[in-house]
Amino acid sequence: MITNLCFHGIGTIVHERESGESRYWVTEDCFLRILDEVRESPQVRLSFDDGNRSDVSIAFPALRERELRASFFALAGRLDDPASLSSSDLRDLRSAGMAIGSHGWTHVPWRGLGEEEARRELVDARTALAEASGGEIDDVALPLGRYDRQLLGRLARVGYRTVYTSDRLPARSSAWIQARYSVTANDTVESIRSVITHRPGVRDVRNLLASRVKRIR
Ligand SMILES: [Zn+2]
Repeated sequence: MITNLCFHGIGTIVHERESGESRYWVTEDCFLRILDEVRESPQVRLSFDDGNRSDVSIAFPALRERELRASFFALAGRLDDPASLSSSDLRDLRSAGMAIGSHGWTHVPWRGLGEEEARRELVDARTALAEASGGEIDDVALPLGRYDRQLLGRLARVGYRTVYTSDRLPARSSAWIQARYSVTANDTVESIRSVITHRPGVRDVRNLLASRVKRIR
């Protein structure tokens, strides 16, 4: 089993786009300590959602320094806005061996989308990000972690190679659905260490059941 860690923003958030967003921002110091903790752990994979500028201003150089790779899930609708990644950032990340994935267009939950919205979020966003980053987009991360059976069916039909959730569980390395742990402002290097070393507890059983329900509901 592997552990997928997901970051959203590093450093100080300038303004929240969504209420409660700052809960998912971690200090630079905490971020660097986590990277140092996981740098020798091949069973830990790293991803970054939302395409915030801290992905390139802080995370990218820190990853390169430690010869780590990560996946960056950007939003097509935020490309080139001042607080977000630009097309040339995506190209720089890609040419340094980072993976670029889609997080959709507008950062809305994908459950129960109408046909038109689904096309924009699942198909058009992918096309726009592929163009912007100069390469294929194979992977997708679900905005706000929400999903159900209908959405998984749509993602399968559109042909995504891997679907990243936020179900706070370990994952099988080759599974189509990859659960991830979102790192929050309350995390410390110690709390992340216990996630990685993984002693299954009550919370895991609860998360596993919740994840099963989402797949079949
Ligand atoms: Zn997000």
